[in-house]
Amino acid sequence: MAAGGANVRPLADKGPGYTPGMCTGVVHVRPYRLFLALAAFGVAPMSHAAVSPVLVIHGGAGVIKRDMTPAKEQAVRAALTRALQDGYARLKAGGSALDAVAAAITVLEDDPHFNAGKGAVFTHDGSNELDAAIMDGSTLRAGAVAGVQRVKNPILLARAVMEKTPYVMLSGAGAEALAKEQGITLVDPSYFRTEERWQQLQRALKEDAARQPHADVETAKHFGTVGAVALDAQGRLAAGTSTGGMTDKRWGRIGDSPIIGAGTYADSGCAVSGTGWGEFYIRSVAAHQICMKVTQMRVPLKRAAAEVINQEIPSMGGNGGAIALDAEGHISIPFNTDGMYRGWIGADGVPHVAIYGDEDDGTAELPTPPPADSVAQP
Ligand code: ASP
Repeated sequence: MAAGGANVRPLADKGPGYTPGMCTGVVHVRPYRLFLALAAFGVAPMSHAAVSPVLVIHGGAGVIKRDMTPAKEQAVRAALTRALQDGYARLKAGGSALDAVAAAITVLEDDPHFNAGKGAVFTHDGSNELDAAIMDGSTLRAGAVAGVQRVKNPILLARAVMEKTPYVMLSGAGAEALAKEQGITLVDPSYFRTEERWQQLQRALKEDAARQPHADVETAKHFGTVGAVALDAQGRLAAGTSTGGMTDKRWGRIGDSPIIGAGTYADSGCAVSGTGWGEFYIRSVAAHQICMKVTQMRVPLKRAAAEVINQEIPSMGGNGGAIALDAEGHISIPFNTDGMYRGWIGADGVPHVAIYGDEDDGTAELPTPPPADSVAQP
């Protein structure tokens, strides 16, 4: 049944001032019905209780070697710290969860150590094709772009799709035309190239030619996507993800990151950004599944995220990780790879950053949600 039942205004009646192509918000309901309808779909009726803002980020899950040079490790940690600080500054200044997510991801897209924006992996044909998505949990609005090759910060274009068009996803040249219209920076495709990613592709191509499985674990499994989830002082959640995809991917392949519900999702109770073998995140509708467990079934966040990331996806043959945040500020960062670039920042304003699997990221000491049995069922 449509939200709002009998109060839904017929689609044909678009109201005064309507012009074709305009985003009208065609569902009009009385306020109390709106409240019930929004709650049923996981949309936050605006909370006015002050909440401590939280920001969680990732820079990709994968095989992260302990023999990474100290200089590279330091640079990665510095970039993660900067992304946390930039995003958190927006939250502290009263900005929205969306602002924080976009700011943090922009920092990581601009840093060549991550597989998003500059430093994106190469396709089989030697080009960079970038995907990104953003979602506002308080309204369930979302925007995404796929296969763009000239957009410096795909996360900003994903946000423009959400805010400036009636659509959720644009791809390729059409998405780039919107970037131009909206004054979003376009660059020459050579901007994205880094020598490290190029050499990764060359190794993968040699292995392809010899019909060998990819021996280079970084090529096969180093994902490196970036993502962020945030809770703002008004209790609104948002999620975003940006990626170059997987090294040696076929031309036109689109992963989970820009697919709402697969690699990126947020509602009134939960926000998730994934990183890993995208086909498995798409098939398990991973991010949405975690949030449905949390928001609709009242499963504690850590358990919900672990069930999808560490049980269901591996049982299907996939791997990866995710960052998840609920409306009370609980954080979960599950992954089943050797490591995951990750970080979070909360009430004390201190950035926490970790890389390796056995490295304490500080989330274990955070207060844990009550066991499911003690939580009232809806
Ligand atoms: N999930 C991304 C994809 O499959 C890759 C990643 O997370 O690094 O495109």
